[in-house]
Parts: sequence; structure tokens; C-alpha cells
Amino acid sequence: MNEIIYRSLLNTLLYLSPSFNVPKVLTFHGISNSRTNRNELSKEVFENFIEYLIQRKFEFYKVSDYFEIIKNPNAVCLTFDDGSFSNYLLGKDYLKPKNVQATFFIPTIIFDKIKGDKIANNYENGCMKEFHVKELYNLGFEIGGHSHYHKLLSELDQNDLIQDIRMCKTILENIICSEINSFAYPYGQRNSYSKLTHEVIKEIGFKFICTQNSTEKKNNNFVIPRIGIDGRDDFNIILKKMKGKGILLNYLLNRKTVHNA
Ligand SMILES: [Zn+2]
Repeated sequence: MNEIIYRSLLNTLLYLSPSFNVPKVLTFHGISNSRTNRNELSKEVFENFIEYLIQRKFEFYKVSDYFEIIKNPNAVCLTFDDGSFSNYLLGKDYLKPKNVQATFFIPTIIFDKIKGDKIANNYENGCMKEFHVKELYNLGFEIGGHSHYHKLLSELDQNDLIQDIRMCKTILENIICSEINSFAYPYGQRNSYSKLTHEVIKEIGFKFICTQNSTEKKNNNFVIPRIGIDGRDDFNIILKKMKGKGILLNYLLNRKTVHNA
């Protein structure tokens, strides 16, 4: 669909949607000036949005702080999935100087020189290397797991699931030389996880797990619902989504679609 038509339609739908008071955990992917795919958001839109939040005294937290800040109306958690190299630059050159906290969810397949290409190809400048991840951690950002192979985890049998999650956790912990506590499901919609995937991930030692489902129950101190930001979203759409508009819409869409991230 033409991007302008998409934005007008979504803007209208969000305008008409009721607002819900949700803790603000936002999912981004690559952030770049030369958007190469649907998930990548323009740097200008992203920076305008962050400036807006800073001016209005919003406070930025890691995802692992979520259950402590759940009642704080000014709290925001920024999360970035898939380990795009643009995320490294953004963390180091833009977020850190502004003292803006964030969590980066890394699928560890990106460190595989051959197989990592599939995700790297999603982004013009490819993906981070191990030392980029380590540097983000050393700068004070949170690093989280995003599985190893970035598959739909609900479709894996139990052995493959355990192997995938363990591999991801071990590789990341070896890189940052510290414990990894947060995990975000690849794709993250309701069809990408199950009671079993929740149990396995908890058993392997993750303390928090993020979905892409903003209608998720929020009272179990384990599962964290996130709000997905599409690369085609403009400033107004991001703001409306952050204010809890579109939750109902998301719920309806979530029943049928497979998220493509
Ligand atoms: Zn992903």
C-alpha cells in the first residue's frame, strides 16, 4: 500500500480509537536515514520523537525495570530488535549523550558469518558484531535475548526450543560477561509464543519476557507487553500508539496476522 495512504488511514483509525493507560514499552528495529525495509524507521522521525519525550520530562528505563515503573505515567522503555548496526550507532552517538536508556534485543545468529546474512540483509549497513554489543553494554544499555535462529518459537519442538534459547543466552552472556535477564520473542504476536515457550524461557533463567501483544495480561511480573512501531509510522502515529490508542485495533489484527519482524 502506498505509504501516504497507509499513514492517513492509520492516523484516522488511531484518532477514532479509545485510549488505554498502558506502560509505554516501544519496539523499534533499524533507525536510518536511508530506510531499506518496512521495519526501519527514519532517523529524523525517531529523533523528533525522542526530543518530544525529553522536553515533556519523560523518563527512560531498561525493560528489566518495567515492573518497578509500571505505575509511573512518565516512564518509557525503548527497545530495539534484531541487532541492526544502525542501533549500535544510535545507542553510542545519540541515546548515550542524551542519557536516554534503552534495551537491545539480539538474535545471536547475526554473529554467524554465513547464516547471519538473512537478518543482516534486512539492513543497509548490516548487523552488529560481538564487540558492538559489548560496547553498548559497557555504555550502560541493557542487552536482551531474541533467540538464536529468530524462528517462530511456538512451532519448535521442546528440544529445539531449549537448545535455541540456551544458545542465545550463553552466547550473549559470554560477550558481555554478565547475566542476561530479558528476552523478546521473535515476531512476538500471539501466534509466536505459548505456555510452553514461556515456561522454557523462564526455566532457562530469563526473568522478563517481552511480547509484541499490547493486550497481554500485565500482572504476572514476568510477561511485558510492547507496542510495535512500524517503519512507516510518522511522529503522530507513534505518539498515538504510545498513548495507548490502537490497542483494540491491535487486538483485532493480532487475531489473524503474522508479524513480519
Ligand atoms: Zn526480531
